[in-house]
This record gives sequence, C-alpha cells and structure tokens, in this order.
Amino acid sequence: MNDDGTALENRQHILLVEDSRLFTSVLSFRFQNELGLKVHHCGSFSALQSALQSGDRQFTLAMVDLNLPGSPRGEVLNLTLEKSIPTVVFTASFSPEMRAEIMQRHVIDYVMKDNDLALEKAFLAVKQSLENRRMKVIVADRNESVRSETVQSLCRMQFQVEELKSGWSTLSALEKDEYHLVVVGETVSDMSGYELARRIRKHHQPGYLAVIGLYAEEDEFNGLNFLRAGATDAVRLPMVQEEFQCRISHHMDILGHVRTLRAAAASDYLTGLYNRRYFFAEGPKRVDRCLKTERVASLAVLDIDHFKRLNDTYGHEIGDLVLVAVASRLRQELQGTEHLLCRLGGEEFGILVNGMNSADATDYCDHLRKIMSTVKVVADEEELSVTVSIGVAEVRTFEAFENYINAADQFLYMAKHRGRNQVFSDHIMTVEAGADRRAAV
Ligand code: GH3
Ligand code: MG
Ligand code: MG
Repeated sequence: MNDDGTALENRQHILLVEDSRLFTSVLSFRFQNELGLKVHHCGSFSALQSALQSGDRQFTLAMVDLNLPGSPRGEVLNLTLEKSIPTVVFTASFSPEMRAEIMQRHVIDYVMKDNDLALEKAFLAVKQSLENRRMKVIVADRNESVRSETVQSLCRMQFQVEELKSGWSTLSALEKDEYHLVVVGETVSDMSGYELARRIRKHHQPGYLAVIGLYAEEDEFNGLNFLRAGATDAVRLPMVQEEFQCRISHHMDILGHVRTLRAAAASDYLTGLYNRRYFFAEGPKRVDRCLKTERVASLAVLDIDHFKRLNDTYGHEIGDLVLVAVASRLRQELQGTEHLLCRLGGEEFGILVNGMNSADATDYCDHLRKIMSTVKVVADEEELSVTVSIGVAEVRTFEAFENYINAADQFLYMAKHRGRNQVFSDHIMTVEAGADRRAAV
C-alpha cells in the first residue's frame, strides 16, 4: 500500500490471460504503472476457470491469449464472454476465418502477436478501451437496422452510446458539450444527414468533436457530400465492422492528441496552472456570461513581494520552488470554486473572482494573502516564506479584458506603495475616500 491507499482500493481490475512470461511481465507492468490497473494474471485455462469461479471480483476488461495450455482452439474466450467481461483478444495464429469468427463474438478488438509492435498494440487496445468508457457518443439515424448495428459496434468499443432519430434532438443534446463523436446516417427524421453534419459543424469544431457520416454505396458522391458538409470521415454501408471500428479508433486517437496539445498550450510550464494565453481567451467569455446574467465578478492580480531579492539571495532555482509552492497552494485553495486562476507571468498570478463584488473579493483575497504567508519552502536548511500583495478591481461594464487587468494592476501598485503584504481595491479606495470626507466635515 502506498500513501494513496484508497485510490489503490478503487482501482479497476483487468484479467490478463496469457502464458508467455515476456508478454505477461511487460503488459502487467504497463497496465499497473501507466493505467493504474490491478492486474490478475492467469497462465492457463484452469487458472482462469478458478479466477472466475470465485465470482467476488468485478473485472473491467480482459486481455486473452487465444492459445493457452488447456485451450488449443481458443476455448478461454468462452469463459470471459460468458461472464460478460469485455475482452481484447491476443493471438499468434491468424486466418481470415478466424478473424470473422472472433469479430462475430463481439470482442472489443484483436491484436496479432506476429510482429514487434504487438506489445505496444496490445497495451494501446486496452488503454483506448478504458478511455472510450468515459467518452459519450451519439448515433443519429432514421434507419433502425443501421442504427442498431452502429450502436452495437460502438458499445463493443466501450463507448457510452446514445441513440437519436432526429437532427434537432441531436443538435440540442450537443449543446451540453459532453460528446466526442457523432455518427450521422444518410437521413434523420427531420433533415438529411449532410444538413445535420453542416449544422453540427457550425457550432462544434473538428478538434473537439468527430462527425462520421454513413452513406449507402449507390451514389459515388454520397461520401464526398458528407466530407464537404464538414464530416471528419464517411463510411460506406453496408459497413465492414472492423474497418468502421478502426476508423473510429483513429479519429478518437487524433482527438486525444489534439486535447493534449490544447492542454499544453493552455498551461504554464513551471507551475502547471493556466497560462496568460488561456486567461485572456477564457476570461472574457466568463466576464461576458457574468455581465449578461447580471452577476458580479472581480479581477485580482496577486504578486509576490520582493521576489527579485529572494532570487538574488537564494538563486533562481529556489525562486522557482517558491513559485511552484505558491501556485499549488493557490490551486488547492481555489479548487472546486468557480474562480479562474492563472500565472500571468513572472511572480504574478491572475484570479477572476466569480460571483463577488469588490468588497467580497477584497475579503476573499485578504484570506488568500494570509494563507500565502504560511507557505514554506526549504532552502539550504532554512525555511523560507513569502508575502504577497493583491490588487482587486470589480468588473462592472463590458470592456476589453486588458482594462480589468490594468485596473487591478493599478490597485496592486497602490498595495505595494502602501507597504506590501496587503490587498488594495476599488472598494477600499471608496471606503477610505468616504472616511476622509466625513473627517473633513
Ligand atoms: P515587488 O515587491 O515590488 O513586487 O518586487 P519584486 O522584486 O517582487 O518584483 P520585480 O518585478 O522587481 O522582480 C520580479 C523578479 O521575478 C525578477 C525576475 O527575474 C523574477 N522572475 C520572473 N520570472 C521568474 C521565474 O520563472 N523564476 C524565477 N525564479 N524568477 C523569475
Ligand atoms: Mg513582486
Ligand atoms: Mg511583478
């Protein structure tokens, strides 16, 4: 048990049914370390029988080598499928008949053992099946038999599948932005498939949502029509199941890479927080939503005091450690809130404080200021801490996002000028101006 004991307990379980020691040890290691799975290994037909007999374990997936001691003709597969365990097949021998037989049995996929990419492919087949379980997919088609065949294929790949018959219900479901893939038939009940693909593309970019058109083979231009309408790909009917699945896997793979790139482009390399670019892209949208719904918001700029001095005294590397420590404490503090946090650059952090006017945001930021002074970093056996100053400006009217930041920056400058380790805001300025006026009367 490591320090994350509960997470270990909640791990998903995979059955690895395999008699090769090399394959078993490589795959077990990668399943455990890269996918966080608990691996149950069975090296023979009888070992699998007893593992399944106890019945006290729920297996998320199975990876099954067809040819095992006690199972010369792939009998092991019966055991996992009887227990409804989604199964990836691993096989050393291959023939077209065998492929047809395996695919007919509704396994997730099969991987050939006959080449040096076999281990990588086996690992990726399991990884992608697990990822697919978190992906939501819509199948929109008026034709019931095509729809159910498509749904079956996607369920086999482990996706969460929703069936819809009309274009409008599809478009309205997609408004939730929860989906990764839509498979569109040639017609839905209220429009053509092309029209639906076009309408989907108006609001959902290819880097976020894959759209696959299904077309009958009568007209050679039907596939082209889908592609022209913005579909990611078009698949001819009657579909070759395995080809359909390969194409879907390929597109989901690309979407995964795009997601990774998007996350990298939005994050700060040192602290892992959102970066300035993301803040300037996402911040205006949130401000817009706030102002349109008459909710309040404020913008805060937080800056570490005398950070240059700290760098000069302890070195840049210790400076970096302090930045990381402050950033992770801020992240921890803001987790689960609606506020948007980023590293603006250097030792400066931006916070869009949602739902708070200047007075509330001033109190909230003062709370953050106190917490930041408790953050400790050890350097040369010395315990370091820092203080921060924060400028807060309320977001009142529609303006360029830079203006809100500039206003908060001005208040930050005042906080520094007044001695650092404090918050200054339009609220404090108004309160103090009122007190001055009263004193003068
Ligand atoms: P003040 O209290 O007025 O904010 O003074 P300060 O010293 O904190 O501010 P100043 O702007 O003079 O210095 C900021 C320093 O932060 C200078 C720069 O070298 C350092 N810095 C910027 N980015 C990084 C970084 O990524 N890592 C480290 N270690 N230092 C950085
Ligand atoms: Mg500073
Ligand atoms: Mg600064």
